[in-house]
Amino acid sequence: MKKYYVVDEKRKLILTPYEKFIRSVKRCLNTDLISGLAFIINETFKRGNTATIKYPMEKIKLDNRYRAVHRLQRFIESETERCIGCGLCEKICISNCIRMETKLGEDGRKLVSNYSINLGRCIYCGFCAEVCPELAIVHGVEYENAAEQRAYFAHKKDILTPIDDLINQVEFEGSGSLRADADEFVKQTPNYYDVMKEREALIPNSNSSEEKTNKEAKDV
Ligand code: SF4
Ligand code: SF4
Repeated sequence: MKKYYVVDEKRKLILTPYEKFIRSVKRCLNTDLISGLAFIINETFKRGNTATIKYPMEKIKLDNRYRAVHRLQRFIESETERCIGCGLCEKICISNCIRMETKLGEDGRKLVSNYSINLGRCIYCGFCAEVCPELAIVHGVEYENAAEQRAYFAHKKDILTPIDDLINQVEFEGSGSLRADADEFVKQTPNYYDVMKEREALIPNSNSSEEKTNKEAKDV
């Protein structure tokens, strides 16, 4: 049965050394103290203790949905950066801690020249990862972000996957990522059916495939 302690506002204040001594004796004789000490001693000397880990020598594996320090991902096939500089993450960030600079690259495409996150301001809400259309910014597994200063920044070079280490880039499975079976829930666009009809018109005796396309359109 749960014990409730009622605060007696009219109780006598303990002021004298003798009264403090009596109070200490009473507390020491309380079984809570003894049972607490017994538990700690037992856990300390228990073999294969699993109640605690020996941090920092030991570290627990984080769940994929844990929102740790961000990573900027690359495409594995082409090694190019996934971030297209759309600015959605910067816009949605409720802590206003993302800053990015973009410019035109030599090929005329937008280039993200700099990207930084103030990890001291970030509240790790995950909105930036949720909104990113390219799955470029994700939460990684690095959670040791203690710093001497409140303003502690992660710059693009710190969070972008190095090309040398691309083979070890882990596809994020948590917040902001697609489900593994996402394709099963994606329906084709109306343009898909127009294109299919045009193709079938070029192919003689394609009634069966046309019926199939119409059936798919009805399903949508
Ligand atoms: S996790 Fe939230 S607060 Fe942190 S950078 Fe992303 S949107 Fe901003
Ligand atoms: S939302 Fe994604 S693609 Fe857009 S700027 Fe941010 S990281 Fe880059």
